[in-house]
Amino acid sequence: MSSDALRAKVSELMPQAKSDLTELVSFRSVADPQQEPASECQKAADWVVKAFTEVGLQDVTASPTPDGSACVHGVAPGPEGSPTVLLYCHYDVQPPLGEDAWETPVWELTEKPDGRWYGRGTADCKGNIVMHLTALRALQAVDGSFPCTIKLIVEGSEEQGTGGLERFVPDNVELLRADTICVVDAGNAALGIPTLTTTLRGMTAVDVTVEALGSAMHSGMFGGPAPDPIAAMVRMLASLHDEDGNTTVDGLDNTGTWTGIGYPADRFRSDATVLDGVDLIGTGTPADMLWSRYAATVIGIDVPPVVGSANAIQASARARVSLRVPPGEKAAAAQEALIAHLRSRVPWNLRFSAEPVANGDPFTGSLDGPGFDALKQGLEEAYGAELATEGQGGSIPLCNVLAETYPDAEIMLYGVEEPTCLIHAPNESVHPSEIEHIALAEALFLRHYGGA
Ligand SMILES: [Zn+2]
Repeated sequence: MSSDALRAKVSELMPQAKSDLTELVSFRSVADPQQEPASECQKAADWVVKAFTEVGLQDVTASPTPDGSACVHGVAPGPEGSPTVLLYCHYDVQPPLGEDAWETPVWELTEKPDGRWYGRGTADCKGNIVMHLTALRALQAVDGSFPCTIKLIVEGSEEQGTGGLERFVPDNVELLRADTICVVDAGNAALGIPTLTTTLRGMTAVDVTVEALGSAMHSGMFGGPAPDPIAAMVRMLASLHDEDGNTTVDGLDNTGTWTGIGYPADRFRSDATVLDGVDLIGTGTPADMLWSRYAATVIGIDVPPVVGSANAIQASARARVSLRVPPGEKAAAAQEALIAHLRSRVPWNLRFSAEPVANGDPFTGSLDGPGFDALKQGLEEAYGAELATEGQGGSIPLCNVLAETYPDAEIMLYGVEEPTCLIHAPNESVHPSEIEHIALAEALFLRHYGGA
């Protein structure tokens, strides 16, 4: 079947995508009643229910989840024997995060002369909601039906990290069961480069404490022979990196390399707001360091603040260390290694204790299989370019829940959120060509996957 009719239909549907996105962006759906009234999330959920019902899904329902948010789900049964695809996105958004820094109204979709559509959620993730709608509308219009069974899940509290959907999934296994799960809350490596996000790093963290004295003591009367626990902690923490800035934890191999698309150092510097003259660290490429290696970060230290500090040696010091865990490794093992490493670096026989904080395993998405093949084909056709693969340095705990709940399902991440969208920052935007291309890719993927 030719893709021309679908391509033309998707293009014809773009004005509707824009008006839909305008409505969606007007809902201040920050899933925190202390920031925005809960009615805003309610309005967004209602809108999603109505829109996906209109495109042909059945039983589209907003169901409560354990964190108080509501997720929207629905289904469109496909032909007998066809596979099932679960399409994911979320309708909640990040708060404005610096309203003064916005150049256009936060809650009003605004097209700028650069052609992009600005406003909170235009990309993350409301742009993906209208992308799904556009793909499904195009299939309905051109083929008159869906080629496989389509299930929908739209989360209502993704940005809060409160885990409502993560707990909803294990209680509703059959409702969401699918052969392929599309986690559509990601984006291309760069505008116009069709990209699958194939891995996510995991994370672990520990709180470590060293104790030296029974109480804080005068640094003039006792400083010298009395050990300073802050100095001890600094020595221990310094051992987590070598001269080049590579993370060095005893027993953890940290030489992984990324084989997908690269992350140019210039772009990384600018994305990470690295100051002029300041080095990037590590002996690997930015992609190696970010997607294929461990990275230790001291995320908190309990020490007296400078203002108000006294001439005293502290009795103890505490730090929280996070360790990002590359694909293929285990967070629990990394946590044990981190604790053992720090314990073995404690100077002067200070008393050491370690408290595990959190563990989340890394994630690897589907890299082969009928779902992967069909999506690769769809993305490459839509863009007329070869598929790239990238990793993501952060975690999406839901992906691990889905992988554990549906061990046989293919799970893939993509979407309209390319790097210049500035998701989670002021002046978030989406490029409409990404909505158009990804919608076409998704429609083609569903067709191919359904055997058409
Ligand atoms: Zn998102």
